[in-house]
Amino acid sequence: MADYDYDLFVIGAGSGGVRAARLSAMSGARVGVAEEHLVGGTCVIRGCIPKKFMVYASEVAHQVQVAKGYGWSGFENVRFDWKTFLEKKDVEIARLSGIYVRNLSNAGADLVHARAELKDAHTVELIGKNQQVTADKILIAVGGWPQVPEFPGSEHGITSNEAFHLEKLPKSVMVVGGGYIAVEFAGIFAGLGVETTLVYRGPNILRGFDDDIRSHLGGELEKRGIRLVLAAQHEKIEKTSEGLVSHLTNGLKPTTEVVMFATGRSPKVTGLGLDKAGVELNAEGAIVVDDYSKTSVDNIYAVGDVTDRINLTPVAIREGAAFAETVFRNNPTAYDHACVPIAVFSQPPVGSVGYAEAEARKKFGQVDIYKSTFRPLKQTFFGGEDRTMMKLVVEAKTQKILGCHVVGDDAPEMIQMAAIAIKMGVTKQQWDNTTALHPTAAEELVTMREKFVSPDLGVA
Ligand SMILES: Cc1cc2nc3c(=O)[nH]c(=O)nc-3n(C[C@H](O)[C@H](O)[C@H](O)COP(=O)(O)OP(=O)(O)OC[C@H]3O[C@@H](n4cnc5c(N)ncnc54)[C@H](O)[C@@H]3O)c2cc1C
Repeated sequence: MADYDYDLFVIGAGSGGVRAARLSAMSGARVGVAEEHLVGGTCVIRGCIPKKFMVYASEVAHQVQVAKGYGWSGFENVRFDWKTFLEKKDVEIARLSGIYVRNLSNAGADLVHARAELKDAHTVELIGKNQQVTADKILIAVGGWPQVPEFPGSEHGITSNEAFHLEKLPKSVMVVGGGYIAVEFAGIFAGLGVETTLVYRGPNILRGFDDDIRSHLGGELEKRGIRLVLAAQHEKIEKTSEGLVSHLTNGLKPTTEVVMFATGRSPKVTGLGLDKAGVELNAEGAIVVDDYSKTSVDNIYAVGDVTDRINLTPVAIREGAAFAETVFRNNPTAYDHACVPIAVFSQPPVGSVGYAEAEARKKFGQVDIYKSTFRPLKQTFFGGEDRTMMKLVVEAKTQKILGCHVVGDDAPEMIQMAAIAIKMGVTKQQWDNTTALHPTAAEELVTMREKFVSPDLGVA
């Protein structure tokens, strides 16, 4: 091995980078890590974790309604204080980031607080430190960044990055986008009492999810007071003394205090020096990698959102772990991207694993569909309007469960468990042999016996 400063240099201390750095260092490699912002990356600093805190905070409003239904009273002066929440959130995020720093240090990795740029395939420049380091292997784990569409006035909008630090809670907000981040933030704002409009250019929210789940969730969001404006997009945003006027293609011109874009994220590759090292990108600007996360350059690897495979924290972590196993433990390991469970922390939330019905029909031909929509026990007690929906997609020939989709309280918690069985190839018969757990909403999942009969397709 040539005389490099490090065996491995990791660019980006987020979910994927930190896991890869720690495991590699624990395997005896000399590891350096550069992070230009706070250690922990998108998930800890401006993604999953602060978002979940916001979801928890905003759910309380609905819980108060439920509490009233159960006979509680005295809520006349219930107030939410945004500043207090933000302060507590930032303290917790700093604590979590500190744990990541300690974990890296305990594993023996060197951490540099600097932006890193590639100079060539083995050399990294640490910007502002007047320092270059060399490494045998380089791992790029720089994540993604929100994309804002370009049209007149779009510069007045914010993204999820800024939504975590708004000086005050706005009176009204327009969230633009139909993906999970848009839907989650719409729920957060609405729960916190902000007048919320969700505008999406497509015909329905959550593209890629099962169509029944998408429609059901849309209805539930409207019940929670979110105004859905579909099949429309911005022509321009005009800043007036009243607020931001959104000129939409359907002729509507809603005025809101804040416009938040959740219109996709792109790999954060600008200025990284990838061209100097010869690292190839695909047409969408993501780093091209093989099954072992190796790029077009033999000693450079990439994991996580920058490779745009499945952009979720646990996936970045598993890709980072597989990299360390492959490169520093002499055990070639390709992470299996199949059957990754996904949650949308909308209100109510969604949990989903495996194939959506339409996707399954295309790939497997005939499928059996089981679905159930019901008012859960918690709601029936006081006449609440929330409805839960559950759906199973089963391959007709083999009876293997191909997909499980739930909208309703605790859906993500249910789906984590369902994912184990589905990944193992469970059949509908084995699934049904499981005794129901009573009284729960989840018991409905193992008691759906009647195939859904579609008016178009006969037995679906
Ligand atoms: C609002 C939001 C909510 C989300 N919610 C969820 C969720 O509920 N569940 C889930 O699984 N996923 C969620 N995600 C996605 C998840 O955060 C990402 O998939 C995950 O963080 C990707 O990890 P990563 O290691 O690829 O990159 P990141 O975690 O983004 O880390 C990249 C790091 O690299 C640093 N960096 C970038 N360029 C350089 C450079 N040149 N030099 C030095 N450092 C650099 C960045 O500062 C960052 O710290 C959410 C994302 C967002 C935005």
